Amino acid sequence: MYEKKPKTFSKLSKSMLGLMGLSLVTMAVSVNMKNDPIRIIPLNISESVMPSQPAVEAPSEIVIDLPAYEYTIQSGDSLSEIFMKLGIPYSDLLKLMEADLNHLRIDTLKPNDILRFWVDGSGKHLEKLELEFNIAQKVQYKLLDDGSYELEEIIVPGKWIQTVAAGDIEGSFSVSARRAGLSYNDVEVITSLLKDKINFSRDLRAGDKFEVVRAEQFVDGQPSGQREIQGIRIERRGAPITAYLHSDGNYYDNRGESLQSAFQRYPMTYKGRISSHFNPKRKHPVTGRVSPHNGTDFAVSTGTPVVSTGDGVVVMVRNHPYAGKYIVIDHGNQFRTRYLHNSKILVRKGQRVSRGQKIALSGRSGRVTGPHIHYELLSRGRAVNPMKAKIPMATSVPRAEMTDFKKSVAAFDKMMLAQQFK
Ligand SMILES: [Zn+2]
Repeated sequence: MYEKKPKTFSKLSKSMLGLMGLSLVTMAVSVNMKNDPIRIIPLNISESVMPSQPAVEAPSEIVIDLPAYEYTIQSGDSLSEIFMKLGIPYSDLLKLMEADLNHLRIDTLKPNDILRFWVDGSGKHLEKLELEFNIAQKVQYKLLDDGSYELEEIIVPGKWIQTVAAGDIEGSFSVSARRAGLSYNDVEVITSLLKDKINFSRDLRAGDKFEVVRAEQFVDGQPSGQREIQGIRIERRGAPITAYLHSDGNYYDNRGESLQSAFQRYPMTYKGRISSHFNPKRKHPVTGRVSPHNGTDFAVSTGTPVVSTGDGVVVMVRNHPYAGKYIVIDHGNQFRTRYLHNSKILVRKGQRVSRGQKIALSGRSGRVTGPHIHYELLSRGRAVNPMKAKIPMATSVPRAEMTDFKKSVAAFDKMMLAQQFK
């Protein structure tokens, strides 16, 4: 899907920019960026369609604000190495990480993500950095007058398009599903959701059928890579096994029974005292700028066991100059949790953990005023209030939502069955 790129920086000289300026504006409309040796997107133009900004009229004069460098992350890269090669001081990187403390987006960079650097006249000071995770998700860090950076998230809603993938079992489920156009990741989601209902290696026979409703995000006709499974129907000898995504982000079977293991609310074995609440609009007491608090803090003494709030896989173990020793757990599909400022980490990357399992000892690593657990819950990559979010705690769709749920089940079934009898 992705083209391999040589490990080089694309440096754009000032004279080149002048020459390329005009043609880039027109190129942006139609050219498939993937085929460009240097991927350049005139940001001012794409920003004008972003929802975070008030609707603006087409600019009468287009200002080209091209980055000085663009770099596609390769596996094994480290950011400090990239900064060193570009001659940008390490102190700038530290300031970026400080701005990133409440988001930790820099730590989520992976191969094929794109970095764009804007530097000042001397070419040595970073004025703006953009991380492009995909065409619908970017983050920008902009230099402020006081020398710190401010983070801005750019989310393009795009269009989500539903499709149904359907097929017959012929060989394994995985092979049959891939043949019907489902991805490796889709197969993972399906088998993990239905693992208690069906034994995928034994229960399916040739001639059994399956249908899956997928939604995929498109931006200007291009897939962003973001997708989700919304409905699953596997017909084992005519008896359907089903899963449906409800508006709360959780999956249920056709009777509204939850298919995901429950979460617990607190990242410790008891209900601790909250010392700082989730507050995405928190103002910094000195600068007055918005400095979101994307988690809930629990005041606990150093050495208190920190437990995973749900079943999942440890996807990250890091030591961050400001967030300290922290862990990220992926709970499948939509939820991730983060646990910051630990004194000791007891799990390793790739390890499977269960709800209530001890994963760390609390502490005061990173920049903190006292020992505490900073706990975050991310839903589809966005921080939500971990004390209030709808997480799979109940075992079924709440009664008040049952009518709506049944309606969407009927709609999904109609889509899937229509595909089956084609
Ligand atoms: Zn905190």
